[in-house]
Amino acid sequence: MTVQHLIGKEWRDASDGVEFESRDPHDGSLLATVARGTAEDGRAAITAARTAFDDGPWPTMSPKERATILHAVADAVDAHRDELALLETRDGGKTITQSQHAEIPRVALNLRFFADYAAMAPNEAYPDGSLLSYTLYPPAGVVSAISPWNAPLMLATWKIAPALAFGNTVVLKPAPQTPLTAQRFAEIALDAGLPEGVLNVVHGFGGDEVAGPLTSDPRVDRITFTGSSATGVHILAAAAANHTPVSAELGGKSANIVFADADLDVAVPHAIRAIFAGNGQVCLAGSRLLVQNSVRDEFLARFTAQARALVVGDPKNHDTFMGPLIEARHLEKVHGYVELARSEGAEVVVGGERLADADHAAGFYYPPTVLTGLTNQDRTAREEIFGPVATVLGFDNEEEALAIANDSPYGLAGMLFTQNLDRAHRMAARWRAGTVWINTFFERDLRLPFGGEGISGLGREGGQYSREFFTEPRAVMLRLRCGS
Ligand code: NAD
Repeated sequence: MTVQHLIGKEWRDASDGVEFESRDPHDGSLLATVARGTAEDGRAAITAARTAFDDGPWPTMSPKERATILHAVADAVDAHRDELALLETRDGGKTITQSQHAEIPRVALNLRFFADYAAMAPNEAYPDGSLLSYTLYPPAGVVSAISPWNAPLMLATWKIAPALAFGNTVVLKPAPQTPLTAQRFAEIALDAGLPEGVLNVVHGFGGDEVAGPLTSDPRVDRITFTGSSATGVHILAAAAANHTPVSAELGGKSANIVFADADLDVAVPHAIRAIFAGNGQVCLAGSRLLVQNSVRDEFLARFTAQARALVVGDPKNHDTFMGPLIEARHLEKVHGYVELARSEGAEVVVGGERLADADHAAGFYYPPTVLTGLTNQDRTAREEIFGPVATVLGFDNEEEALAIANDSPYGLAGMLFTQNLDRAHRMAARWRAGTVWINTFFERDLRLPFGGEGISGLGREGGQYSREFFTEPRAVMLRLRCGS
């Protein structure tokens, strides 16, 4: 398979013809050769998006007309669900169950939700005697969308869908580890009626290569980025030169707090999913597990038993819970943190060594790993590992739990398990995190703000927050000759 850029209506190789490989993390087999975009390719894609915005029909269509096309794209995604799911699973190692039942359906939901939101969102108008004041939401222009590998098409469309629904044109750069679904999605979208130039896709790397112009070209009006906090710093610096607004959804080190009064039949399986689903390669992962000391032994016995029982293997099998990590370098990073934890005095209660038996040796497999004996000051408890590694910490009371949860440079999410709703509300109000889940995890309502505090991000997306970002809200005041 060959993955090319989509620039305007053309599928193109890199301007210098250079390619890179995308391999299956399950067995290392070659999946595709991919155009390794140059800065020239990035500029060409911006030119195509600029032309489609300045001269094309997309920005001036009514939101309802755009919604009709975006619904057609969503219907086509549904029709290709199994094909897209298998591509996602092979490219990134996500389990087929997750790809089929969570990721690809969410792609279609992203499109439908923002199509309908843009068409039906309430608008302000303030008649004041003969003065009528109201707000317009014209599209911002050309949007650079830069996405990570851990939920490739779901996160790409979390950006593309609102950008398009509000009338912008887009240049998408997917992560180099997982380029396959972006290419297939673009083909599907064009077939479903998306006008040419409205969505452009370029492949490759950051810095001086294809992503350079996406963050530094003055013809770009918005940058929406999801990725690591470290890359976020580079993108913000590049964008500052042109005062280009950036929405940044970055890393996390979320606390999952289990109180003694929690229903452990609910808390334990949620804690398992919070850190091991998706291999812990999830920005929202509950990687700092805080358990009230009075139930710590019972919780830990149940948690470790369930962690040991998780099926780790070929992500194409429907009974697999965890597939491989994304790549060799990442496996080394994850294991490096476990070694660091050992040196910090941790006890490795479960896991802690690469899986190297015959079923796993060809892939980047790492088992569910549970660490105890650390404090919240240890690096393993402070830095984002982005792997299946849970650090279990104890606490005695609510104040202490909240203090530990908030003692982090990150502020993306938090979850707590308790049957005391007074406490739950108190904690949610004082938790320094963009999202707080109470007795649940990972559920979303796309109308609510999504984003992080601290080094977890800048700005919010979702519902009205996406409208604010992807448009240039404009105040209009009209003095009428009549009125009272
Ligand atoms: P990454 O920062 O390495 O890369 C993300 C994207 O940025 C890729 O497309 C990459 O090619 C591109 N990039 C890298 N350097 C660049 C530069 N200088 N200029 C422009 N683009 C550049 O992140 P990753 O490893 O792909 O993803 C994992 C990270 O993403 C984790 O930190 C995770 O927490 C975070 N993440 C956050 C959210 C969220 O919603 N907050 C969601 C998913 C992942």
